[in-house]
This record gives sequence, C-alpha cells and structure tokens, in this order.
Amino acid sequence: MKLILLGPPGAGKGTQAQRLQDELGLKQLSTGDMLRAAVASGSELGKKAKGIMESGGLVPDDLMVGLIEDRIGQPDCAPGFILDGFPRTTAQAEALDRMLGKRGWKLDHVVEMTVDEQALTQRIVGRFSCAKCGAGYHDTFKRSKKDGVCDVCGATEFTRRKDDNAETVTARMAAYRSQTAPLLPYYAARGVLRKVDGMASMDEVYRQLKAVLGKA
Ligand code: ADP
Ligand code: ADP
Ligand code: ZN
Repeated sequence: MKLILLGPPGAGKGTQAQRLQDELGLKQLSTGDMLRAAVASGSELGKKAKGIMESGGLVPDDLMVGLIEDRIGQPDCAPGFILDGFPRTTAQAEALDRMLGKRGWKLDHVVEMTVDEQALTQRIVGRFSCAKCGAGYHDTFKRSKKDGVCDVCGATEFTRRKDDNAETVTARMAAYRSQTAPLLPYYAARGVLRKVDGMASMDEVYRQLKAVLGKA
C-alpha cells in the first residue's frame, strides 16, 4: 500500500500517519521529521534547510526528491508507506511518479484532509510532542492522560517546533495554497484522490481513512 496524506500544515497528517503506522504497519515517511533530524544532526542538508524551515518556506525540490528516493528504496518500506509532507510541489509529484514507475510500483491512494483554515493556527500553536518517542499532543485537543508524562513511553520531556508560531503559519499556509494545492487537481485527474473530513475528531478521521483504504 502506497499512500499520500495531503493537507495544509496542522491538518492532522502526522497524527493519522502515526496511528496508521502503529495499527496497520505502514511506514510513516514524514519529510518534516526527516528534515528536523537533519537540522539537529548538523548535516549539510540540515544546514541548508534550517533557515528555510524557520521562515516557513519550502526546501528546494532536488534536496527533497533525493531524501525520499533514498528512503523508499530501504527494505522497511517494501510492505508499504505513507508519505506525510511529500510531495509538496508539482515537480516533487512528477519525480515521485518517476521513482515509483522505475520500481514498478503505483500509488494506491492520495487522501486530502479537508480543513477549515481558521482552525489551523490553533492546531499549530498548541502542538507539542514527546522528546523521546515523538508521540504527538495538543494543549487543548490531545493532552496526555497524566500531565507532563507521555502516554506512550512515560518520558517527561516534551518539545515544540520552532516554526509552530502564528507568524510562520501565515507563510506556511501561503506556500501550501500556491505550491501544494495544485496537486489536488493533479491527482484528481488520475482518479486516485479521495477526501476525509479533517475537521472531525481524530478517531472519526481515522475511521474515514480506514474506510478509504478498504480496512474498515
Ligand atoms: P500535520 O502533520 O498535518 O501538520 P498534526 O497531525 O501534527 O498535523 O496535527 C496538528 C495538531 O493538531 C497536533 O497538535 C494534533 O494533536 C492536533 N490534531 C490533529 N488532528 C486533530 C483533530 N482531528 N482534531 C483536533 N486536533 C487535532
Ligand atoms: P506540517 O506538519 O506543519 O505540514 P512539516 O513537518 O511537514 O510541516 O514540514 C515542516 C517544514 O519542513 C516545512 O514548512 C518546509 O519548510 C519543510 N518541508 C517538509 N517537507 C517538505 C517538502 N516535501 N518540500 C519542501 N519543504 C518541505
Ligand atoms: Zn513518549
């Protein structure tokens, strides 16, 4: 199963991809997480990406395509994967078509998570995650069961993304509208585009996703 989750920042892509990975064994490939790891490690890629990410712009296509091309060739991706945050431009989508075609693979589904833009800033500024296992949380919408303790691994350290602030969100939304939204007609034209209601509760979004995947 090869799946793309498509939607603006804060739509719930990471939340749902994490759950699909845990429950269905599909590998979550989050380009945002990969880039943040590269920034943290101080690699060449990280150095190039850091300022761009902090300003809410998009990292150049050639770097992103190289990153994904290396990743999908690894054995843990063979059973299937969920692209979370890639492709984000038409050039990336075309490169993805080429790399899948080369391996005789095809995209099973592209799922648009439809959301009300007004809600996204609140989602983004309240987002945090476990520093140890990466589990995602929200100040209002998904608190841990015990305050300050990760439900999944019991760690007590949490992190917030530097780009999750109201100013950067505006630039990220603009990048989505101008560069990523054109992928919706691109995939619709091939008959692989499906929609789920990203404004519904996390459980309901998950239910709709499983229905799309035929796993309901
Ligand atoms: P994305 O990966 O698309 O940027 P996330 O999955 O990180 O989005 O979600 C953004 C924030 O909103 C997170 O803090 C998450 O806990 C919260 N969130 C995700 N889905 C929902 C939902 N259906 N309802 C309310 N909050 C949500
Ligand atoms: P969100 O979950 O809010 O949609 P991500 O974690 O996916 O954000 O991405 C964070 C930042 O990393 C983006 O604002 C962008 O700068 C960079 N990035 C991630 N994926 C891509 C991509 N496919 N192409 C270009 N830049 C990307
Ligand atoms: Zn944890």
